[in-house]
Amino acid sequence: MSTITPLTSSLTTEERDAILDAVRDFAQNELAPNALEWDAKSFFPRDTLRSAGELGLGGIYVREDLGGSGLSRSDAAAIFEELAKGDPAIAAYISIHNMVVWMIDTYGSDAQRTEWLPLLTSMSGFGSYCLTEPGAGSDAAAITTSAIRVPGENGGGENGGDEYVLTGVKQFISGAGEASVYIVMARTGEPGARGITAFLVPADAPGLSFGAIEHKMGWNAQPTRQVILDEVRVPAANILGGEGEGFKIAMSALDGGRINIAACSLGGAQWALDRAVRYVHERFTFGEPLAEKQAVVFTLADMATELHAARALVRGAAAALDAKEPDASQQCAMAKRFATDAGFTVANQALQLHGGYGYLHDYGIEKVVRDLRVHQILEGTNEIMRVIIGRQLLAH
Ligand SMILES: Cc1cc2nc3c(=O)[nH]c(=O)nc-3n(C[C@H](O)[C@H](O)[C@H](O)COP(=O)(O)OP(=O)(O)OC[C@H]3O[C@@H](n4cnc5c(N)ncnc54)[C@H](O)[C@@H]3O)c2cc1C
Repeated sequence: MSTITPLTSSLTTEERDAILDAVRDFAQNELAPNALEWDAKSFFPRDTLRSAGELGLGGIYVREDLGGSGLSRSDAAAIFEELAKGDPAIAAYISIHNMVVWMIDTYGSDAQRTEWLPLLTSMSGFGSYCLTEPGAGSDAAAITTSAIRVPGENGGGENGGDEYVLTGVKQFISGAGEASVYIVMARTGEPGARGITAFLVPADAPGLSFGAIEHKMGWNAQPTRQVILDEVRVPAANILGGEGEGFKIAMSALDGGRINIAACSLGGAQWALDRAVRYVHERFTFGEPLAEKQAVVFTLADMATELHAARALVRGAAAALDAKEPDASQQCAMAKRFATDAGFTVANQALQLHGGYGYLHDYGIEKVVRDLRVHQILEGTNEIMRVIIGRQLLAH
């Protein structure tokens, strides 16, 4: 398996092609042959993820000094599309992990970067992002997990203490129970977004525990569990960024996360479309292949067109994020909304074109449909994407 060569400058076409070839090989040889079994057995493939880390996928758009690959968001979007052709559920987990690693790289102190990035970029350890709570999903600024500053074991400093005690429950956390570090958004101040702070909570912190593994429609190869914080003490040095900056940090991470999830939808749906194109040549009804029916051809044409349009939006949003354009968040929301809707619809149409066989596990299409469904719900539901887009529209 070749390794992504760390690069500081923007890539030449040849360099980018070489990276995508390596990712494609990994997706086809390490993910695709196992995807159905991992799904059926709800198996989290730690060793395969470590191989992804060796390839450079543990910190794709993270600085290179501590193991990141130093690539752009545009490169990442292309990478996640290729990974998802092998297994959308694992590609999406790698996306969430990258979101966490990027947060530590971008907002972390030197000590935090040194402590966590080598472990995470190599994927010897994993990261989880803990924002959602049982009572606060779309309205993330309403979280109630508390973080109370107390004197540390060696006595309080002049700010009244050097530790925080975190108490609350985080819901639907991807990778919970497997991760080495949890970025927990908790309330340190007034109600609303400005009273939220992000904390790095190590997996072995006393008082940290996990709920049962949720039984889900898809994404079965990665665990989703509650993260329960029962008076978890962390030093003030575990604050990521500054006190009160947690909501801003959490939202900035989601811009990139939305591009990646959108790219995972593109990859899964493109795989399903490719299968459907092959199948309509093989399957005969009424004495001729399905490919001879104009209704079938029109369906395929619309599927390809929707994915092409979605890909253009995803690439545009990634370029906007790379260029730090002022409307980048709005473009990320548009790309996420459009590509995850298109991806699910196209995968479902591919299932329909397979008739009864599409409904069978062995054909793999129904798994992609199940995996892509949640992309319309998480990292902000597609209704919340419309809220973000509409808010920007009406602000002018
Ligand atoms: C498999 C899975 C993995 C996840 N992983 C993570 C993770 O790792 N970390 C994490 O923090 N979270 C994670 N989530 C949580 C996910 O981000 C939330 O489920 C999502 O944000 C929606 O929140 P909710 O489920 O509370 O729905 P709610 O907010 O209760 O929304 C219910 C419905 O109301 C709609 N709605 C809400 N407000 C409005 C509005 N203003 N206008 C119009 N419609 C509205 C929503 O779109 C939705 O259709 C995960 C979820 C799942 C299912």
